[in-house]
Amino acid sequence: MLLQGQRFVVTGIASKLSIAWAIAEALHREGASLILTYPNDKIKKRVDMAAEQFGAEMVLPCDVASDESIAACFAEVEAHWGDGINGVVHAIGFAPMDQLNGDFTEVTTREGSQIAHDISAYSFVALAKASRALLAKRHGSLLTLTYEGSISVLPNYNVMGMAKASLEASVRYLASSLGAEGIRVNAISAGPIRTLAASGIQSFRKMLDMNEKIAPLQRNITQMEVGNAALFLLSPWASGITGEILFVDAGFNTVGMSEKMLLANEQDG
Ligand code: NAD
Repeated sequence: MLLQGQRFVVTGIASKLSIAWAIAEALHREGASLILTYPNDKIKKRVDMAAEQFGAEMVLPCDVASDESIAACFAEVEAHWGDGINGVVHAIGFAPMDQLNGDFTEVTTREGSQIAHDISAYSFVALAKASRALLAKRHGSLLTLTYEGSISVLPNYNVMGMAKASLEASVRYLASSLGAEGIRVNAISAGPIRTLAASGIQSFRKMLDMNEKIAPLQRNITQMEVGNAALFLLSPWASGITGEILFVDAGFNTVGMSEKMLLANEQDG
């Protein structure tokens, strides 16, 4: 087992479909010990289910909108695993629904933008601050989840595209800031997967269909393909990798124009 004796804090489980669920499953499969977090009581029950399935040692509240909540969470982590942790998974994203539906210029508001950036981007830095000392003790790593909408325009992704661009920049700045302590920082840019967060994006189902048509592998990715890539980046096999955005998207990001797009254009007349 690749991760026997290693310890990870995993945020972002909201259902069995969550990317974080698959990451926790992959880490557990390789012998890792887990602490799982939840933002509020509504979600706790589902995180408890995951904890039971993956033998997690603790389930802790951690609302990343609150510095106090983050501090209290990592104080508990330190009380339990005082001699360090091997990794923290940040699988958190949120923007108000009205920001993800319609013309970008029209629907994007100051408040919506602040919330999206706070919860989806700054929170990664906040988790890095809170876990820094514990990660340094074991030369651990931080991992976050991003999406192609940070670098290309995708329908209705809107302000989340801005937030993900900020998140990706924070991966590079954190990697530079924490590298001297032996802490690595990486992201996975996942292709579209049907989850609760994704269901907030209008036209998501159509995007899944289009992805399948355009991607070189001619299909969408599975949750576990992200789980396995996360396992790699969090493991000693990736010890030389930091500040990296790894695409797990069936190759979608590599295509500028495909034969199928040309064909569809011809059929449109
Ligand atoms: P999900 O809905 O299962 O997970 C989103 C998580 O964010 C939930 O667990 C939710 O509780 C958590 N969250 C929201 N606000 C929070 C807060 N204030 N404090 C703590 N946690 C909070 O959906 P998912 O698709 O698994 O999303 C995980 C990550 O993957 C997100 O960053 C998302 O943007 C990213 N991602 C998703 C896709 C996709 O197509 N599903 C593709 C690329 C990247």
